[in-house]
Amino acid sequence: MTFRIALIAHDKKKDDMITLASEYRAFLSGCTLVATGTTGGRLQDEVGLTVERKHSGPFGGDLQIGALLVEGQIDCVIFLRDPMTPQPHEPDINALVRACDVHNTPCATNMASAHLVLSQLQQRAV
Ligand code: PGA
Repeated sequence: MTFRIALIAHDKKKDDMITLASEYRAFLSGCTLVATGTTGGRLQDEVGLTVERKHSGPFGGDLQIGALLVEGQIDCVIFLRDPMTPQPHEPDINALVRACDVHNTPCATNMASAHLVLSQLQQRAV
């Protein structure tokens, strides 16, 4: 089974996302990946993953990913949020997390939950 995974990280969490994606690189390279603009660029450049890049989060990327999710095109969201920094697009962030809850889609918002979700999906993929 090929999973469709959305990857988003706020600025202070982008290094964590690179660490996470590097650890799960073999699994993620077999998935269909979509990401917000800057996160996706770093995943391509630094981890070598093929990623469909949407707009940057503050310019509507979270909403684009939310729309895909509502259309049933996303199986799981890894969204490393920064809880310590105010975000100009807070309403978009809340909309995406709400869409995950409405559609019962797994949404990991920190490293610990991201590890749990990715390790579980990885097991299911084999
Ligand atoms: P970015 O967007 O990957 O383009 O930085 C993420 C966000 O800030 O929501």
